[in-house]
Amino acid sequence: MIDVLVAGGGPAGLAAAVHARLAGLTAVVVEPRTAPVDKACGEGVMPGGVASLRALGVEPAGRELRGIRYVDGVRRAEAPFRDRPGLGVRRTTLHRALHERALGLGVRIVPGKVGEVRQTRDSVTAAGITARWLIAADGLHSPVRRRLGLELPGGPRGRYGLRRHYRLAPWTDFVEVHWSGQGEAYVTPVADGLVGVAVLSRVRRGYDEHLDGFPAL
Ligand SMILES: Cc1cc2nc3c(=O)[nH]c(=O)nc-3n(C[C@H](O)[C@H](O)[C@H](O)COP(=O)(O)OP(=O)(O)OC[C@H]3O[C@@H](n4cnc5c(N)ncnc54)[C@H](O)[C@@H]3O)c2cc1C
Repeated sequence: MIDVLVAGGGPAGLAAAVHARLAGLTAVVVEPRTAPVDKACGEGVMPGGVASLRALGVEPAGRELRGIRYVDGVRRAEAPFRDRPGLGVRRTTLHRALHERALGLGVRIVPGKVGEVRQTRDSVTAAGITARWLIAADGLHSPVRRRLGLELPGGPRGRYGLRRHYRLAPWTDFVEVHWSGQGEAYVTPVADGLVGVAVLSRVRRGYDEHLDGFPAL
């Protein structure tokens, strides 16, 4: 029997597995997708996140971020980070770094999906693996959490995320969050010649149509 079985090999699952290994526990991650896993994301890691990654021995390459700016038409509010920078980093770069660190520490990453979960007093079995603990790191809408009846009433609401990268020199070293009536757009410099623009909205429509809602962009 292993110590920790992790359902989901996204950032949370891989970080949990690395933590487990650093604590001297055995860990297996079950994840259906092959690394590096990509996903629509603003790709901005806040300073606390950068520190947490460093503590795990994970230092992905990216572009330093100095603060956050919120932009709503003509109004804007901004603040620099107080002590240390954040990081703009391609989601795939972050995932690859976490994945390699986990493998380097001896985490076993198994292709598959956690479905039925069986529990005894001292163990849990899922995806054919028996462990002392199961960590459900299978995302915001976690099927494992739902299956175990651990959903909170009113749970997370559905939103659509879309993103595109632009080959251009970043005009700022702040993350910019732009608002429109339909959603938000996160603008993050992720490399010297690359800027990511991720849109998050309750309305399902194409990327270009969303972008029309942000004239400044
Ligand atoms: C548009 C957008 C912009 C964002 N911008 C930012 C940002 O700038 N900065 C930031 O910090 N956060 C941002 N976020 C949030 C961030 O993406 C999430 O917090 C993060 O992905 C959560 O990681 P996770 O590992 O919990 O889940 P996920 O990344 O969703 O990973 C879950 C994993 O579980 C796997 N899985 C699913 N079902 C099963 C199963 N049954 N068994 C096994 N595995 C399973 C999936 O394949 C997936 O790889 C943004 C989100 C969106 C949508």
